Amino acid sequence: MYEAMRLLAVLLAFVVFQVWWFHRETPTEKRLAAVAGSIAERDDAAIRCPSIWRRAVEISSFGGNTHFDTEGKPDFAELRHEVCATFEDLPEKGFPSDVDCLLGDASRCDGWTKDVLFAVHVLSHEAWHLAGVRDEATAECYAYQTDAAVAEEFGATPSVARRVAAYLLSQGTRSTLPEYRISSDCRSGGKLDLHPGTAAWPSS
Ligand SMILES: [Zn+2]
Repeated sequence: MYEAMRLLAVLLAFVVFQVWWFHRETPTEKRLAAVAGSIAERDDAAIRCPSIWRRAVEISSFGGNTHFDTEGKPDFAELRHEVCATFEDLPEKGFPSDVDCLLGDASRCDGWTKDVLFAVHVLSHEAWHLAGVRDEATAECYAYQTDAAVAEEFGATPSVARRVAAYLLSQGTRSTLPEYRISSDCRSGGKLDLHPGTAAWPSS
């Protein structure tokens, strides 16, 4: 009897540890939540990176996805493993300092630069969903305007950040999925301009 109880206690501790392990917020998730929260203007923004189990069943081709609760309030954003991995590598590898490759044929850019640009825009986009924006084209338009701020948060110099944002916007106008395609309101002085008082675009 005593042995059985001890075994049960060990099993229970194991289960509790597993649950804690999969639900704990990693340092990267905390950092991403802080950056997204500063854009969404909420201090309870939550970003999740897929666990090793979820990674195995990942099917979405999108970089991220924000979950809304039954009342339609944004709950948390989940990023793809590749996007999380890029942010995890950023402190060590550093933000690309030379983005001249974006000027000509951007396919010449190295893989790291491409990964970082994609990750920056995904986080920027999901942050707007966390702010309560459900419409994809609107979230995209706002995201282009905060891409530079996100890039700077992760170590880009202001001039690199501006060039990254301008490049991402130039790609966005060619979006293949109609619901993500930005409208004519997405321009300097347009209805979706976050800083209509400034001429700078897309960054403030
Ligand atoms: Zn979206």
